[in-house]
Amino acid sequence: MNARAPIRRLDPDLVGRIAAGEVIERPASVVKELVENCFDAGATRVTVRVEEAGLRRIEVADDGAGIVPEELPLALERHATSKLPEGTDLSAIATLGFRGEALASIAAVAHVTLLSRVPESDVASGVEVEGGTLSRSFEGARAPGTTVTVADLFFNLPARRKFLRSPAAEQVEITTVLGRLHLAHPEVALTLESQGVEVARYPGTSSLREAAGRVLGREFSEQSFAVHARTPGVAVEGWLGRPPLSRSTSGGLYLSINGRAVLSRALNQAVRVAFADYLPRARYPLGALQLEIDLSRVDVNVHPSKREVRIARESEVADALREAVRRALLAAPQEAERPVGATGAFAMPPAELDGGAGDSMPAAEPSAEPELVSAVFAPAVRQTYLVESAPLRRVAGSARHPPLTLLGCLGALYWVASSGEDGVLVDQHAASERVLYEELRVKGRLARQELVSPSALRLSARQVATLRAETAAVAASGFVVEPFGPDAWRVHAVPSYRGRRAPVEELPRLLDELAEGGRPSVPDGLAERVAASIACHAAVRGGDVISSEEMGRVLEALYALSDAAFACPHGRPILVRLPRRRLDRWFGRSGA
Ligand code: ADP
Ligand code: MG
Repeated sequence: MNARAPIRRLDPDLVGRIAAGEVIERPASVVKELVENCFDAGATRVTVRVEEAGLRRIEVADDGAGIVPEELPLALERHATSKLPEGTDLSAIATLGFRGEALASIAAVAHVTLLSRVPESDVASGVEVEGGTLSRSFEGARAPGTTVTVADLFFNLPARRKFLRSPAAEQVEITTVLGRLHLAHPEVALTLESQGVEVARYPGTSSLREAAGRVLGREFSEQSFAVHARTPGVAVEGWLGRPPLSRSTSGGLYLSINGRAVLSRALNQAVRVAFADYLPRARYPLGALQLEIDLSRVDVNVHPSKREVRIARESEVADALREAVRRALLAAPQEAERPVGATGAFAMPPAELDGGAGDSMPAAEPSAEPELVSAVFAPAVRQTYLVESAPLRRVAGSARHPPLTLLGCLGALYWVASSGEDGVLVDQHAASERVLYEELRVKGRLARQELVSPSALRLSARQVATLRAETAAVAASGFVVEPFGPDAWRVHAVPSYRGRRAPVEELPRLLDELAEGGRPSVPDGLAERVAASIACHAAVRGGDVISSEEMGRVLEALYALSDAAFACPHGRPILVRLPRRRLDRWFGRSGA
């Protein structure tokens, strides 16, 4: 191309496709836009049917207000909307749509059919659009409401098709979007069918707790607490998971503002700060929160797909949210126990916690009273005691690591050992996880153990979609799971490490993490993130009471690792050394 080509107007078809690229990223974006239109139309029931993860066909049918026949072509035109009546502007938008570009965008990159009936009419009217131009109008039969059918998405955008993930992974996105929509409008019944089979059903409910349980899983329904607050600027309503239910990404926290599902770093962060004392680093709270904020304070016109919004005086809202969550956590003291594994006021900077030689303890006051020492040793465990007085067990040293003598275990969480004259503490989850991670990297899969009697399990729609999308990862993990009836699943085998079996309940947790792309704190590629997730969910957990033989086996395996940098796959320390010198100082023997 020469350096100075003439400027020309692009043809409308190309303009349409360019614009569509912003609104319609993938099949799940079509589902989101179409279902939001149903919400705006006052629907009480919406059915979404997809074929081939939406690439072949997406159909969304509702029982909403409908579109009069003469407006059908207009609905498909760009910048045509019924949601901004004349005389209104963008300062207080109460509907989900207002840009009038979703249907036009979809029609620019797919074949679209609209069929709609308003209650006053006996027949339904339809229009069909091919490549952005109206090709046919027709009459049909349907109950009052609207059906939009989208076929061959991105047929004229091969580049976009190339960037999509596997159909199974796109199906996970669709399921995720549906859950997000349900938690913004739980009063509307949503059903998802894939290839003619119902894969998700969210009955309409006035209870956000019930809706959250359906989307976030059974464990969530059993272990959540209510958040409820009303300040002059903002009302907050919702349910959050108790701290032990945390996730490895922020993807388990569903936020909506004025009925619109949104993503917001600032508000996520506010919730996380409220949980600060109860969650370890790199863990995120989960749940569903609905915020009501004065319409005039919310600018929804900042993102083409409207998934982010701008809030005037956002810090005020964030403060109110943080306070509401903090108070809710405190109001449920028996539920707000610090979980095993949390780091609190005594959290230690990782730099001080390498497994190498030297003085690596945090700066405790040399004059500290003995009681404080126990707090420094195991800050997160309320009751600190020796669970087991293990028979002495020696772990042979290696070129890089001195031999250890295992002494016992604190709070089913930290192993206590001696190394020469020094003390050594080992995080049992981190150590076990690291060993399994290496085994996965070397062997490609973890050992499994068949269960004598298969264990029944309920999975959420998204967990099921993830099971189908991540067959290789699930197979590598050692879990074997098969469908058993329409809603139920059966686990036939679980990961096992030299005789210890991972609990069946780890499978849904693993699936949730895989749905969000695996452990995000692992810097390497996707394969490493997935391996880290698998290792984490197959490993011994903090709180599991295990035998000293097992501790010894894990330590031996850890010592045998060629690259024995003692951090777990996502960077937490595994082993902390308490040098004799440091102990002497605590006990006032510094001169000795
Ligand atoms: P927007 O939602 O921003 O108005 P859309 O392109 O999504 O833009 O829709 C254009 C118009 O089509 C809407 O304003 C509405 O009048 C009509 N419409 C779309 N979907 C439905 C539906 N499911 N039920 C009733 N009317 C609809
Ligand atoms: Mg719309």
